[in-house]
Amino acid sequence: MSTGDEPLGPLDALRTPRFAGIRTFARLPTAEQVEHAHVAILGAPFDGAASFRPGARFGPAAIRDASVLLRPYNEPLDLSPFAAAQVVDSGDCGPNPMSVASAHEAIQAAAGELHGAGTRVLGLGGDHSVALPLLRAAAARAGEPLSLLQLDAHPDTWNEYFGEPVTHGTVMRRASEEGLIDPSRSAQIGLRGPLYSPADLEDTAGLGFHTMLAREFDPAAAIALARDTLRSPVYVSVDIDALDPAFAPGTGTPEPGGLTSRELLAVLRGLAGAGLNVVAGDVVEVCPAYDVANITALAAAAAAYDLLGLMILGLSPGSGRRR
Ligand code: MN
Ligand code: MN
Repeated sequence: MSTGDEPLGPLDALRTPRFAGIRTFARLPTAEQVEHAHVAILGAPFDGAASFRPGARFGPAAIRDASVLLRPYNEPLDLSPFAAAQVVDSGDCGPNPMSVASAHEAIQAAAGELHGAGTRVLGLGGDHSVALPLLRAAAARAGEPLSLLQLDAHPDTWNEYFGEPVTHGTVMRRASEEGLIDPSRSAQIGLRGPLYSPADLEDTAGLGFHTMLAREFDPAAAIALARDTLRSPVYVSVDIDALDPAFAPGTGTPEPGGLTSRELLAVLRGLAGAGLNVVAGDVVEVCPAYDVANITALAAAAAAYDLLGLMILGLSPGSGRRR
């Protein structure tokens, strides 16, 4: 157990090679190894609310596996995240694979415990439904509706599937209804694909979300939209299907015409320096059974790394050094 003032960082790759050792995210210490963490990775391996291809329950393990290549200095953010703050891997919460309600309770409890201890939570999905309990825990901690940046091919504002109100395609409508997010301070970027009707996008706009379709996507315009729309406290949700299937084939609901990995990372990095306090987030919908050469998991690990960096930049000044 580390009790020192210096954060306990990842294993040194020059001493223990990256392919060796237990698979925590970025080879970080586990929660048990430190007294207090500023930020925790929390796996939410649940895919019982996916409407098409299942398998995202294996996402957290695949992202951890791909994350061993992450190095300790984030060059575009000019930040050494694991030296600036104590980051840990809190493992997976244990969602019941047979029950959406029970699984979400378990995820909310695990995330709520971390937030209650003053630890920011970066969730790894799991299907996108896991964002709902993660948002419930984060909004309860914040004490106000969160401002959401959602990178996704889909608005996830449909009302129900097969009569079920809580699915990976309805999660942002539920979050809006519950007052967990404020759509007027929220942006959805990367939307595309065939819809059920024109009402799908009209409904999303009607809820108040600011949207940028994938066919309208331009990195500078997306960053400007996010900076103009978001207000602290912010939650960033990365549905990996925001990426084109060329970059993320390993996902449950692929839609051609999406972002490149470089564009996704550019949007995340574009939030740095905007003074936004990113209090929580997630990277979801990685479905390794459909992946090719781990490219989806690698993209997810890279997105999670930048998201961690943004969360650390939002910590109070003096909580750590930058590099
Ligand atoms: Mn999606
Ligand atoms: Mn989604």
